[in-house]
Amino acid sequence: MNANMMQQPLLISTLLNHAERHHGDQEIVSRRVEGDLHRQTYGDLAQRARRMANALVANGIRFGDRVATLAWNGHRHMELYYAVSGSGAVLHTLNPRLHPDQVVWIADHAEDQVLFFDLTFLPLVEAIASRVKTIKAFVAMTSRDHMPASSTIPNLLCYEDLIDAHSPEFTWPVFDENTASSLCYTSGTTGNPKGALYSHRSTVLHTYATALPDSFDCSSRDTILPVVPMFHVNAWGLPYLACMVGAKLVFPGPWLDGKSLHELFETEGVTMSAGVPTVWQGLLAHVEANDLKFSTMKRTVIGGSTCPPAMMDAFEDTYGVQVIHAWGMTELSPMGALGKLKGKHAGLDAVQRRALQAKQGRSPYGVDMKIVDEHGGELPRDGLTSGELMVRGPWVIAAYFKGEGGDPLAYFGDEGWFPTGDVATIDADGFMQITDRSKDVIKSGGEWIGSIDLENIAMAHPAVAMAACIGVAHPRWDERPLLVVAKKPGAEVTREELLAFYNGRIAKWWTPDDVAFVDSIPLGATGKMLKNQLRETFRDYRLPN
Ligand code: AMP
Repeated sequence: MNANMMQQPLLISTLLNHAERHHGDQEIVSRRVEGDLHRQTYGDLAQRARRMANALVANGIRFGDRVATLAWNGHRHMELYYAVSGSGAVLHTLNPRLHPDQVVWIADHAEDQVLFFDLTFLPLVEAIASRVKTIKAFVAMTSRDHMPASSTIPNLLCYEDLIDAHSPEFTWPVFDENTASSLCYTSGTTGNPKGALYSHRSTVLHTYATALPDSFDCSSRDTILPVVPMFHVNAWGLPYLACMVGAKLVFPGPWLDGKSLHELFETEGVTMSAGVPTVWQGLLAHVEANDLKFSTMKRTVIGGSTCPPAMMDAFEDTYGVQVIHAWGMTELSPMGALGKLKGKHAGLDAVQRRALQAKQGRSPYGVDMKIVDEHGGELPRDGLTSGELMVRGPWVIAAYFKGEGGDPLAYFGDEGWFPTGDVATIDADGFMQITDRSKDVIKSGGEWIGSIDLENIAMAHPAVAMAACIGVAHPRWDERPLLVVAKKPGAEVTREELLAFYNGRIAKWWTPDDVAFVDSIPLGATGKMLKNQLRETFRDYRLPN
């Protein structure tokens, strides 16, 4: 029997309509590349997005066309989030931290029709403009008075000219909620990057789930500063979430150093933020060095790679900022799990609580997780047994864009689960803990050693800025762990001191065999350690006997 309920498609434009109607005077503050601090309201956002939608149509952008951006977090990027997807085109956020050759490859693969860019990326756009095959127009996201005096870029348009030239009257089209809305490519640490093509439906459902109290816990009383870039998995969905709940938004532009962020947190009264551990490291260093505090910040989401427990200690114990450890993937839109404690955990002591928070967390409604052995057999949820993490849900991809890489769900036969490539445990309460990436696992004498545990311990040493643990060939054990360490500026620590630091903290045989000191650990375009590059650098490394 069919129900009698309305069939209203879940469209991204409805988030904007809601924000305009119910939170029209709420503020969006942006530090812009032009150097100013810009303020507008959700009412302005909605009006400008409609003007831009008219501009897109006038410039020949049709339903389903890919519209690319190379841009920081800012109000114009937000306008494009809604103008492009709302009008039925597909927003493709390019990652400017990639090598220009990779940007060209991805833009061609996506068949982008137009590219919007922040002025910061003018040199990058000049380098790729004659190489990209499908882009017909380039739009500098600035006003006429900041347009480059001369440029080799063909068909270069000005964003504010487009806004001024087009009417704010535009009716958002209504279409099937399964229509593609945005496209993000994976970091591509192996092989070519692959595209995750999200739908309006998957995006709206993901937005509901991320706003929940056991997720980001956001409301109209929040002031949200997304540090995670809008070119990395849609800033974890925050541009959509902010419209859904009507929160004040603060965009940091390109200024992601500790000093700039802390200033903005304080002057704009930020209550909630989100980003990868490397950014928070810079922020904490600045706050510690200058004896500052956070007067309005209540919580921050930390994810993208493991949040070192030492970072949680600093945020929670020293500064009173709650850390929400989160796990996700481009392929999951990205939210998969969050480390929020349950009511029954209220009685835990500080050490037990921190151990639970260090896990990557439990899934919100909408994400189903399990761990499996090498044949696809489900493993127990006992918090001890580890296996490959499989996920499914309405905001998990079913295939990569253009079918690249075959059918990912057919990994262990056609079961409808997405293999994450992460190795994890799941406990009886549903708390998942990543112990490794399947390709980062160190296998010593047939037993797995979790490189993340080894890194977390090293990172807790006061002299260590960053630590990576990789497996290197060993004649007897096949592989043994090598700890690669970048020291904090001016800090001193010896190999022996670091190895002794593991005593009593870990099974003896897990202790790394050696320590290699480096100036810096190579990071990928999304802030993750490039372990494959380290493995290459240390391929012929000879461990001491
Ligand atoms: P990306 O698609 O670039 O967001 O990368 C997704 C991958 O990042 C996951 O498969 C994990 O390996 C890693 N990752 C994300 N969040 C975490 C976390 N909280 N702890 C450990 N690894 C994480």
